[in-house]
Amino acid sequence: MQSRPPSVDRVARDLAETGLPHALLVDVARQAIASAAEAGDTDSVGERAASGAATVAHRLLQPVVNATGVLLHTNLGRAPLAVDHPARYSNVEFDLVAGSRGDRSAHAADLLARACGAEAALVVNNGAAAIYLAVSALAAGRDVIVSRGELVEIGGGFRVPELISASGARLTEVGTTNKTRYRDYEQAITADAALMLKVHTSNFRITGFTESTGVAELAASGLPVVVDLGSGLLDASCPWLAAGPPGWLVDEPAVRQTLSAGAALVTFSGDKLLGGPQAGVIAGSETLVGACRRHPLARALRPGALVLEALQGVALSYLRRDAGETIPLWQMATVPVAEVRRRAEALSVGPVVDCMSVVGGGALPGVGIPSAAISLDGDVTAQLRSSSPPVVARVEEGRTICDLRTVFPDQDPILAKALTP
Ligand SMILES: *Cc1c(COP(=O)(O)O)cnc(C)c1O
Repeated sequence: MQSRPPSVDRVARDLAETGLPHALLVDVARQAIASAAEAGDTDSVGERAASGAATVAHRLLQPVVNATGVLLHTNLGRAPLAVDHPARYSNVEFDLVAGSRGDRSAHAADLLARACGAEAALVVNNGAAAIYLAVSALAAGRDVIVSRGELVEIGGGFRVPELISASGARLTEVGTTNKTRYRDYEQAITADAALMLKVHTSNFRITGFTESTGVAELAASGLPVVVDLGSGLLDASCPWLAAGPPGWLVDEPAVRQTLSAGAALVTFSGDKLLGGPQAGVIAGSETLVGACRRHPLARALRPGALVLEALQGVALSYLRRDAGETIPLWQMATVPVAEVRRRAEALSVGPVVDCMSVVGGGALPGVGIPSAAISLDGDVTAQLRSSSPPVVARVEEGRTICDLRTVFPDQDPILAKALTP
């Protein structure tokens, strides 16, 4: 004989110590009562409710340990953040010198412009917003000339042709998938042409019988050249790294060099190789950045103080040239493999194996960074995800691989605990 089901309120109150808001516990309680009734097992309501509450808590946004070895893991927020205690009020639009209304660009955007050698910069919510705003402001109702080899899809839902048509510009495709020459661009220049757009093919490579036209050559045409760089590598010579650019950065186009080659504007993400928060940056000539800043969409796409504060920290690191030590992404990316291996061995929780970390985030496809990992029998990723804080690892050939390169050294004890049965 089954007992009568408890009341929703009673079940919810019994879960109060989970710390979840009562309204959410009421939903959990209702579901637990319904599923117990369906199973003809009213005695199990408490157990079902506890497990339901644990699931709700586990789905909340929370810090995780990234043991995947993917430095810019799109599902884990791309570049790791370095902000500890964000300001409560800040002078986001207040000029503390003049005591009057200030400009949102006066901090992060101006410092980033200075760090990459641009006349001006504007910060928006992400890389897609940056190119959307740039094309809307500079080319609505006119032609945007793009190589057929660069009409790409990057990440979920970012497709260059769709973005151009959404911004009200007309796409003029030139050349072919594998070869686009200067002549192809030149023939498309009409009175209606507003700009040439080059898009970095971040997440794939076309090799073999290929040819593309560089920024310098296109800039000589007189039309503004806008380059969507994606990754936001600020300077190809990496002056913030004592040892210079790492070998795995091969061929990654950089902001400073693209601007000096003659690009009128570049756009890039804040949370890829720049190593900052989710943001998009438009950098280049004062006139064109100004046109973007004055466009009504700029207001709709502007980031908040949280993002600007984090991005200002990033810009200051580049200007001080200590980004190699102060930006977590660059720390992780450049720590010697021997040091990663030493940490893995010091944990003594399982066999240590050589592995390859990857940059990820749709950048540098096929490029690996030598690393070291703890290798465990079978797939124990579900168990690792349920530890607190959750640890995210990867599975390779039936074994669980915990790559130490993307784990912060202060998280080693957390990883050791999660890996100890
Ligand atoms: C990543 C990327 C984007 C999209 O940037 P989000 O910040 O993800 O919006 C656009 N263009 C290129 C070339 C990229 O690599």
